[in-house]
Amino acid sequence: MKVIEHINNTVNPKFSYEILPPQKGEGITKIIDVISQLKAYDPAWINVTSHASSLIKEKTSNGEEIKRVYKKRPGTISVCGVIQNKFGIDAVAHMLCQGFTREETENALIDLSYLGVENVLALRGDNLNYDKELGQSKRTNSYANELACQIHDIKRGKFLDNTEYYPLDFCVGVASYPEKHVLSLDTDTDIMYLKKKVAAGAEYIITQMFFDNHKYYEFVAKCREARIDVPIIPGLKLLKSVKQLQILPEIFHIGMPIELQDEVNSAPEHIIEIGQSWLKKQVYDLLEHGVNNLHFFLMNDAKNILDIVTKI
Ligand code: FAD
Repeated sequence: MKVIEHINNTVNPKFSYEILPPQKGEGITKIIDVISQLKAYDPAWINVTSHASSLIKEKTSNGEEIKRVYKKRPGTISVCGVIQNKFGIDAVAHMLCQGFTREETENALIDLSYLGVENVLALRGDNLNYDKELGQSKRTNSYANELACQIHDIKRGKFLDNTEYYPLDFCVGVASYPEKHVLSLDTDTDIMYLKKKVAAGAEYIITQMFFDNHKYYEFVAKCREARIDVPIIPGLKLLKSVKQLQILPEIFHIGMPIELQDEVNSAPEHIIEIGQSWLKKQVYDLLEHGVNNLHFFLMNDAKNILDIVTKI
């Protein structure tokens, strides 16, 4: 089923989850275990993140420095295939602009369609530290709205070689940032570009994580004012370590409520309980506000989130 069908058919609250493909060399056993744990809780769907390669520097045995392009987490498409076909759960493949040529994107969409995966989340990804353009102009998409346009073309049977082929049908989601994307001038500019993504065919939006629900409510209100009418699903994360109080804001450019910081700093040994109780409060508040689809960034730790889901 498509994500938009899940959303439109939601009567009781539905939870979806986001997992990472295994690190190269790790094997698939651990991720299968995570998916099995989620399966028991009837997830609406499961997203699988995508990861661009990056340039790494290594020293050879004779001390010479070599550079190579390395992908730490390959396997997005195959993990989606496992979720879809081994577990019978709808999978959402993340697709990136950065690090992927338009041709690679097209081929990935063909692979996904063969696997029966009907859902993708179109994302820009972060800047690369090497040149993927390979000297040729316009081989990659620069922004998520361009990627959404490419997928929209493929949905109409329009492929890169200008030949009409059998159309591939995908439900496309995109990302948004209640606390503004780091590269954006302000929220209004961000929302203007978000509108472009919806105009390019995005049927729903998933937000970046936030720890203060008011940020989400204000953001949704601004989107509605800007006539963005598609569902906006909140993305939620469990705070799991004291260190995350500092690193989550650094990495994801989000705020950390003072009340949460104070609670953690006064009893750091109870971080898991505090994180779980905060997330539970966020979830209940969202449900009370009539938000029935919630998305959890799992980071492959199913246990601590499912503890909360059980209680809810
Ligand atoms: P865009 O919508 O392209 O926006 C990027 C920035 O450019 C914004 O500041 C926007 O305002 C601006 N902008 C947009 N369009 C234009 C335009 N046409 N012209 C000029 N400026 C423009 N990253 C990964 O690498 N892998 C993942 O799997 C992944 N999953 C994610 C899942 C979610 C739910 C979220 C919220 C983020 C995820 N990310 C992932 C991170 C994301 O790729 C980065 O935050 C990235 O910097 C922005 O992606 P985007 O799709 O929102 O970009």
